[in-house]
Amino acid sequence: MAKFETPALKEYPEIPVVQPGAMAHSRPFVAAAGHQAALGFPGELVDDWQAVAIAKMGELLGKYRSLPVFLDSCVKCGACTDKCHYFLGTGDPKNMPVARQDLLRKVYRRYFTFAGKHFPKLVGAVDLSKEVLDDWYSYYHQCSECRRCSVFCPYGIDTAEITMAARDILDSVGQGQKYSNEIIGKVFKIGNNLGLPGPALEDTLEGLEEDVEDETGVAVRYPLDEAGAEVLLVTPSADFFAEPHVDGLIGYGKVFHQAGIRWTLSSYASEAANFGLFIGSYENMRKVALRIRKAALDLGVKRIVFGECGHAWRVAYSFLNTLAGPFDFLDPRYPVPQHIIEVTHDLIQRGALTLDKSANDDLRVTYHDSCNVARASRMGTMPGGQFVLPREVIKACCNHFYDMSPDTIHESTFCCGGGGGLLTDDLMELRVKGALPRMQALKEVVDKHGVTHMAAICAICKSQFSKVLPYYGFTRDQIVSVHQLVSNAIVLGSKQ
Ligand code: SF4
Ligand code: SF4
Repeated sequence: MAKFETPALKEYPEIPVVQPGAMAHSRPFVAAAGHQAALGFPGELVDDWQAVAIAKMGELLGKYRSLPVFLDSCVKCGACTDKCHYFLGTGDPKNMPVARQDLLRKVYRRYFTFAGKHFPKLVGAVDLSKEVLDDWYSYYHQCSECRRCSVFCPYGIDTAEITMAARDILDSVGQGQKYSNEIIGKVFKIGNNLGLPGPALEDTLEGLEEDVEDETGVAVRYPLDEAGAEVLLVTPSADFFAEPHVDGLIGYGKVFHQAGIRWTLSSYASEAANFGLFIGSYENMRKVALRIRKAALDLGVKRIVFGECGHAWRVAYSFLNTLAGPFDFLDPRYPVPQHIIEVTHDLIQRGALTLDKSANDDLRVTYHDSCNVARASRMGTMPGGQFVLPREVIKACCNHFYDMSPDTIHESTFCCGGGGGLLTDDLMELRVKGALPRMQALKEVVDKHGVTHMAAICAICKSQFSKVLPYYGFTRDQIVSVHQLVSNAIVLGSKQ
């Protein structure tokens, strides 16, 4: 892996000096033929790749009305240029959102507009050459599809949609990304991103039950494949073993236990994550989502609840009903789907949980809004509930909570740097540099309020921060799950 320098944290955030080509070398491993085949994509660059790519672009332009609108409506106002964490962390001008869009826009103009066909130089239209295709592969894998730029664009142009289209085209010509495509293949074959088979999952959950009973003296259950349970919990597979994710899973179990809700996990749908979103493939996204429907039907549950996973909640909240619905066999008194934060928040509001805030008195906590929750979904029934509910749950469990700077939270939140299918070691430089704005904001509350920990409700954010915090002088255990805080504070066996 190439050596790189971690950007310095400054007293105030700074817009970097532009460094053309600074990240031109950054590209993830290309998917092998086997990974491609499992998803129905060609195994290597097809002979007539240019014609295939243009045909695919035409198909997407016809299918998604947003795509031509986004490609036609940019007025080059520049409002988005300094809003992307990858530009702020790398200084590479192709990581400015408008420049990233232009990589595809130039080709769109050449093949799909009158001016581009006849006067390409006048309108900045270019042929789809191998060099352009390589640039796509590099820079469309330097976008985490976080949608921060769209918040600041006066036309609401969503670069994430353009990135998804570009990745879809790349897959169609045989240039898929190894990390995302291999993971989707594992979900189809085994049921989760980690390739964790049912018996291993069962052992893990049994071990968790023993640990929790040893620690608390209470027999909290972590059930698997229990037909007739009320709730099917679908959670990111990282929750089954990685720190700090597993502490969150322990917390969900304690909440269900204390509320007297019978719940279960499923070995068939043992993954909330849906990387079909990242590669822009609705067909693959649908196939992953259908596993959840099948598990819910097979187990006869009445509710589906999602654990702490950002993009999984986006897919669930925005697409689950259209991808895998109707869910008319579930209890109509509950939303389909529900987030574990909504469940816990509701129980707290109703006084159904006893929480001892002093159990978290050794922590001074801030909260990282995860992109897909913040900008692509909601929670509860109020506008902005996705910002309010997690904070209210944290505040119900902790005496010391401090928000980061307002321009780095809520809908303006910065990506952790590892979202959108970029959480892979072959992109470590990008991940570290892309984390800069969030690390800068964290440093401010550490200096000002003595913050010791940052909580999050996204498995990718938690994994990314565990890895990149040390690059910026923090420790990897400073990232925690929100339900880890709940787990610390909840008083078991004292129902009101
Ligand atoms: S969607 Fe996020 S990562 Fe992609 S260009 Fe916009 S700000 Fe950058
Ligand atoms: S803010 Fe919107 S309109 Fe302005 S340059 Fe960026 S994408 Fe184009």
